[in-house]
Amino acid sequence: MSSNAQKTAHDPRADRRGLLIILSSPSGAGKSTLSRRLRAEDPTIAFSVSATTRPPRPGEVDGKDYHFMDVERFRAMVADGQMLEHAEVFGNLYGSPRGPVEAAIDSGSDVLFDVDWQGGQQIKESPLGQQVVSIFLLPPSMAELEARLRARGQDSDAVIADRMRKSQSEISHWAEYDYVLINADLDKCEAQITAILEGERLRRARQPHLMRHVQKLNTEFEGMNR
Ligand code: ADP
Ligand code: 5GP
Repeated sequence: MSSNAQKTAHDPRADRRGLLIILSSPSGAGKSTLSRRLRAEDPTIAFSVSATTRPPRPGEVDGKDYHFMDVERFRAMVADGQMLEHAEVFGNLYGSPRGPVEAAIDSGSDVLFDVDWQGGQQIKESPLGQQVVSIFLLPPSMAELEARLRARGQDSDAVIADRMRKSQSEISHWAEYDYVLINADLDKCEAQITAILEGERLRRARQPHLMRHVQKLNTEFEGMNR
């Protein structure tokens, strides 16, 4: 039985397509941290595990944090139409495999993407663009951004310098996003994203089950003895 078939008429996800939640920011502003928190808080949110040609950082798990692969395999997936979007970021290739995303949103789950502005733009322009909610995170200051990159303790000085140099270009895309948050306080930022998602899920067009509910109310109304 498919997961769609298992849903009841009372399940608001029964005939809804999930949201594509795009989270972008300059490196170090807090995407991975917030993404982990949001998924822990709401396990119904699926995470789009990206493919990348960059080597794993200490502690990163293949298939969980990224699908780590060589350039040949990455290019073969692109040529085969298996990437929803892909881009070169900091000299490495990154992409979002299409299959798991389509399966998740068809079953009514929301999918979270940690992608750069190029990925966000491609997903918005794809046939799934109607389902996109895009959120951009700004750091409170450039000094704090650098401090966070250092505090993460996973990149060399050269990599940190490169990411700082490229941060301005990522930040220049802030106005292309639906929502822009300054990630000064993690708890506050997480609460703001949760509020955004609650609102976006309540949009009329995203609640197809309401039609049935209103029909039921009408039937009840007509059956009333007045
Ligand atoms: P990104 O995924 O955007 O590159 P990370 O989520 O890895 O960024 O965050 C970089 C570092 O900054 C991590 O060590 C994280 O714990 C820290 N961090 C993220 N948000 C905040 C915040 N609001 N206040 C303090 N530290 C933060
Ligand atoms: P990192 O190497 O720090 O994990 O990620 C570097 C940058 O690549 C971040 O801006 C991140 O959002 C972006 N990124 C990660 N996965 C993808 C992806 O699948 N597609 C695109 N376009 N960017 C990605």
